[in-house]
Amino acid sequence: MGIIKAKNLIYNYIKRDEEEKVEEVNEAVKDVSLDIEAGQFVAVLGHNGSGKSTLAKHMNALLLPSEGTVWIGGMDTKDDDSLLEVRRTAGMVFQNPDNQIIASVVEEDVGFGPENMGVPTDEIWRRVDECLKAVGMTAYRRSSPDRLSGGQKQRVAIAGVMAMEPKCIVLDEPTAMLDPNGRREVIRTVRELNKKKGITVILITHYMEEVIHADRIYVMDEGEIAMEGTPEEIFGRVDELKALRLDVPQVTELAHGLRKKGVPLSPCILDVEELVGELVGIRKQRTAQ
Ligand code: ADP
Ligand code: MG
Repeated sequence: MGIIKAKNLIYNYIKRDEEEKVEEVNEAVKDVSLDIEAGQFVAVLGHNGSGKSTLAKHMNALLLPSEGTVWIGGMDTKDDDSLLEVRRTAGMVFQNPDNQIIASVVEEDVGFGPENMGVPTDEIWRRVDECLKAVGMTAYRRSSPDRLSGGQKQRVAIAGVMAMEPKCIVLDEPTAMLDPNGRREVIRTVRELNKKKGITVILITHYMEEVIHADRIYVMDEGEIAMEGTPEEIFGRVDELKALRLDVPQVTELAHGLRKKGVPLSPCILDVEELVGELVGIRKQRTAQ
């Protein structure tokens, strides 16, 4: 069993009237099964309302299945006795860094989680040093979070989760409120945590360009997993992605069209420079022949 496993997960949001009678049932997740190996970088793509956040909240027992089972580190999330350990295994990072930063000084904020867990003081400071370094925020350790950019704040929030030493980090659209620079900073940080520290990463996003380095991609639609595969496999299916209302970058679509016409381009082209680079390479090869 992988570090995160879901089997036939169903989640319904149920709205009741004053007499507790069911008024409305919203089937947000319908029969999702997945199995994520420790150490992987997994991306979950999907348009708004496809069930990504509902799925994410099951990975840290913020929601419990209506039907089916979720295991985190082998523990059934429905088991009350495992709740604390489940939350220690999988940390969550949300969209808005302002809602996650509590303290008025960066280093205190990062130390807050481990302090709450009863970690000894020396060890807290060791973790604060290490985590701030890992996200590239050591220079700001005594700053007030209010003075940081969105990307910097989100990196502090990630350091705060890291300081609790989870085995995996689930990030629910961590870049949605950031500018392109902030987005790049956050994605770079998350990739490094995965590569250097071996932390399992679940990155939820609707930006296709953020998932190109993932080991595996799940695409959600209407509460179900509609596509699953490596980035190469997923990006090679542009027409299906568009049908699932995902924004496929124009240049990816162009490359896809060219590939269909027989131009030997790689499937994961996401920016103009890459496309030009490959086309120039192909041309050089042809003139050399
Ligand atoms: P995503 O994160 O992909 O945008 P969500 O998991 O937030 O999707 O939502 C999936 C579905 O569940 C949507 O139809 C949404 O309207 C519904 N939903 C989300 N949160 C709630 C809630 N608290 N109460 C009722 N319905 C909800
Ligand atoms: Mg969401």
